[in-house]
Amino acid sequence: MEINPGSSESASLPTEANPLSGADLVEQRYATLEQSFLSHRPKEDAAKVRAAFEFARDQHSGQARKSGEPYILHPIAVAQNLVDMHMDLVCVETALLHDVVEDTGINIEEIRRRFGNEVAVCVDGVTKLGKIHLYSREEQQAESVRKMLLAMVSDIRVILVKLSDRLHNLRTIGSLSREKQTRIGQETLDIYSPIAHRLGMGKVRAELEDLAFAAIDPEAHQDILGQIEHKRKASQEFLEGIRKSLEQKLSREAIPARVEGRLKRPYSVYLKLRKQKIPIEQVYDLLALRIVTDSLKNCYAALGVIHNEWPPIPGRIKDFIAMPRPNGYQSLHTSVMGTGGQAFEVQIRTEEMHRLAEEGVAAHWKYKEGRKGKSTEEQYVNWMRQLVEWQQEMRDPGEFMSTLKVDLYSDEVYVFTPKGKVVVLPRESTPIDFGYSIHSDVGNACVGAKVNNRIVPLKYALKNGDIVEILTQPGHMPSKDWLGLVKTSKARNKIKGIINATERSKAIEIGEKYFEKEARRLSIPISKLDEGILAEVFADYGVGKIEDLFANLGYGKIEARPILMRFDPNRSANEESKAPEPIPSSAAQTPFDKDAKNLALRVKGLNDVMIYRALCCNPIPGEAIVGYITRGKGVAVHSVSCSNVQNLMYEVERKIDVEWAKPGGESFDVQVSIMTDDRPGMLAQFTQVLFSENSNIRSLEARGDDERGGDGAIVEMKIEVRDKRQLEKILSALRRIPGVRDIERKS
Ligand code: MN
Repeated sequence: MEINPGSSESASLPTEANPLSGADLVEQRYATLEQSFLSHRPKEDAAKVRAAFEFARDQHSGQARKSGEPYILHPIAVAQNLVDMHMDLVCVETALLHDVVEDTGINIEEIRRRFGNEVAVCVDGVTKLGKIHLYSREEQQAESVRKMLLAMVSDIRVILVKLSDRLHNLRTIGSLSREKQTRIGQETLDIYSPIAHRLGMGKVRAELEDLAFAAIDPEAHQDILGQIEHKRKASQEFLEGIRKSLEQKLSREAIPARVEGRLKRPYSVYLKLRKQKIPIEQVYDLLALRIVTDSLKNCYAALGVIHNEWPPIPGRIKDFIAMPRPNGYQSLHTSVMGTGGQAFEVQIRTEEMHRLAEEGVAAHWKYKEGRKGKSTEEQYVNWMRQLVEWQQEMRDPGEFMSTLKVDLYSDEVYVFTPKGKVVVLPRESTPIDFGYSIHSDVGNACVGAKVNNRIVPLKYALKNGDIVEILTQPGHMPSKDWLGLVKTSKARNKIKGIINATERSKAIEIGEKYFEKEARRLSIPISKLDEGILAEVFADYGVGKIEDLFANLGYGKIEARPILMRFDPNRSANEESKAPEPIPSSAAQTPFDKDAKNLALRVKGLNDVMIYRALCCNPIPGEAIVGYITRGKGVAVHSVSCSNVQNLMYEVERKIDVEWAKPGGESFDVQVSIMTDDRPGMLAQFTQVLFSENSNIRSLEARGDDERGGDGAIVEMKIEVRDKRQLEKILSALRRIPGVRDIERKS
């Protein structure tokens, strides 16, 4: 056995409370652990348990618990709980290592390297659970936290270690402050004991609840304990009498059985007293006998024996064998009237049912010994499947589905803020959804995200248990593409709102500039607009303030000129005579020209419409096109794929169908950019292609692409084409020339 030299000094400090030195105590507790582990699993390698123990001990060396004990005693105790449940090697190793990543400088990779992937996954899971703030007074949040815990663990052993961890923390809670005791107790009742219950672990649940109850309200706990004890003393003889007589009767009927007396747990009694507002005398099942027999048949036989002897209390016979509880619990319950009017409850079950009632999901590891090749996940799924079988005869299948479905086929994903708050989002949600769920400012300013400390793209689909951090940049605004990335309606609505507002503010800006420019051109002073006239304008245009007017100008809904004319100081002279609107000189700057090329375009069903090809996308015959009615400048024709189209179609009513007229021999200029190898003869080959395709080169410019760090050349050409087909033919011929790397159509 290797001895780590670094560990002995710190561990050898004797603690005051214990006559053994700290190191001796630690060794002794560990020896017990190893021994009991081997007694359940003799074929396992104890050296692996020891390796985990020694590593944890060394990492925690010098650390003490609040009680003053060496810290390592805590992981040993957690592991001991699990060994007592007959859990496997991975589970025990995980228990020993469960606080190492959280409390020392060790990272999960180190754990993986030393103890393998399975242990690393489990330790990582426990560490992640430790980072969540689970305490919540809201029942709603508690339920989603419970769901999340079950949804996020890929290995159910993570939960088992966590429950065991909590159990030991509660057992040793005495040295913590009152406040902490209350918090931990409440968290246990909200989260951990319901999970233990869900997993069918009756024994763990019972202990968690009673310890938590004592931690939250020590007086009430003492009071209930006292009442139970009083009742126990008073009825001990009675119960013992019943037990003996029952044993005799069962053996006479040849029903092999153990009969045990059982007292209702303090917390259950407390709940019952509080809920039903009854004195303890009326709690029927305070005292109970439990019969554990060998077979299903004998369970019912035993029930018959009991009812033959003591009259059952009507309505209190429960057959949880035929209809198990949602967590798989099975037993027959009956309450009967004893001689002298003393009621008591009897629970009847088989050994197998008993084991499952006590240990639940943990029971499934007990007999896995030697059975190789079953993954943990498979075991978990089997457990769930078994639950499903148990449930098949349940009275309310809806209830059953709601208890299980959430865990197996959840539509939700549970992620954390860096501070450990749970955020529930629809499945496939992205960091953007997450950002908006925190605050719309966070969503808007989101420029990136880190998930589990690594940068992810914004389209990343969040997974259960991810710790999400949003990277923000003040002043950043969402883009339209985000609408395709988000899953939550909250994010969608916020993004839409922002986009509309941004477009509007852009329109206001444009409208104002346009207004000022027109004013300068018309020499109308606008620094101080006449308020009376302004009010008239607002009324006539149906707007409330100057921004609305600018917005309408910016969107192109109205013209600036007629408005400005009202403010013309010379207006009074020709007051009512509306001057015929001259064609605005700005039209001269528009691409609208009388060029023959425009004859190739037609607005469907209309003649005499000014029409021009938009410069931004320069559509050519054969391409899908769409028209847009401009103010005073005719119809602009864009390629359907033009990036400006979507923005323009903001005003759907201005969209108009257009089509290409019959080919009339016109040609159109198209700008292309060719990335090519830089060698002699390339240009000659390009012109050759154009020549053979009956096209002309209108302009040509070549340069090296060294500014882009390349070793090739870029050739910009303006070429003449008749239509899309000809262009495509030319482009594909150019692409076939050896040395041509890429071709891009610029306009
Ligand atoms: Mn712990």
